Amino acid sequence: MLPLPVLEKVQKELLCYPGEKCSVLEMSHRAPAFMEIISKAEADLRTLLAVPDSYAVLFLQGGASMQFSMIPMNLMPRGGTAAYADTGVFAKKAAEEASRWGDAVIVASSADKSYSYIPSITQQSIPKDAAYLHICGNNTIFGTQFNTLPAVDLPLVVDLSSSLMGQLYNVEDCGLIYAGTQKNMGIAGLTIVIIRRDLLKELPEEIPSMLNYKLLAEHGSMYNTPPCFSIYLSGLVFEYTLAQGGVAEMERRNKEKAALLYDVLDASKFYTHKVRAQDRSIMNVTFFLPDEAFTAAFLKGAQQKGLSGLKGHRDAGGIRASLYNAMTYKGVSALADYMKAFETENR
Ligand code: PMP
Repeated sequence: MLPLPVLEKVQKELLCYPGEKCSVLEMSHRAPAFMEIISKAEADLRTLLAVPDSYAVLFLQGGASMQFSMIPMNLMPRGGTAAYADTGVFAKKAAEEASRWGDAVIVASSADKSYSYIPSITQQSIPKDAAYLHICGNNTIFGTQFNTLPAVDLPLVVDLSSSLMGQLYNVEDCGLIYAGTQKNMGIAGLTIVIIRRDLLKELPEEIPSMLNYKLLAEHGSMYNTPPCFSIYLSGLVFEYTLAQGGVAEMERRNKEKAALLYDVLDASKFYTHKVRAQDRSIMNVTFFLPDEAFTAAFLKGAQQKGLSGLKGHRDAGGIRASLYNAMTYKGVSALADYMKAFETENR
């Protein structure tokens, strides 16, 4: 979901951008108006996430999935070593892509229990020559999250695709953070990378320019035409989020929304929630009904009540409620009521 005021502003400005004679969709990325859009977006993002000057902010394309490849190519030598925590589908994909470039060592995994918990990661388990430790901060599909980031003495690389701007993180705990903007920060087409400047290094000739963080940073994310409309839209979301009280307020709201559903699950003898209590995600709440027939009936009834997008990911099954920033308390409350009513009718 996107905040309604953001969509309304897009609609209002779409045909003619204020002060210009064209739409933002038609503007050159070098036009002064667009330069202002991108620099304001970056400034607002830095304010929202308290990004210090010692970190570069990059606006890239290729989705979070492209970062699975860019990270190893930029942060470790060819054939080098990096540590990965295997906590779900995306964490595993990140490791698989890295292993095309070097040795992606799995130092912790929760695959043994269907990714229902966050495994502990110790410094001892990390190879001494590892260039970085990669984790997925919030596991979108399984509904688990790192409630504290591992304290390790090598750069921590964190995929925050489904939780950045939905909850507070300390950027300085990380060497690199990345996230696609389509969950809490805008629409598809833009991926944000926040990287500590000392990790921006000269790369071997064979690395394509478009995959080179240092080069992209030197060109202010304008080495080629950036995803202008996605940047414009994220800029509006940043502005709106700031006006709403920033990330601390988003986190407060998201915790409140998540508690509505976890309270129903904790009180239920009908639904199963598999995630270990201390690892529950506040962005994605996953649960199961007794069987497939119940699941289908639950989804059908939900749809009739205007509650959509609840089918669990194909790799996890069951139900998943995503509580991204723009999802309202009222909307989640309607789901909680429906869950209780469905249980009473079917138990
Ligand atoms: N990482 C996480 C945690 C995700 O949730 C997703 C997508 N849902 C991805 C990576 C992949 O993102 P993209 O589709 O932008 O490549």
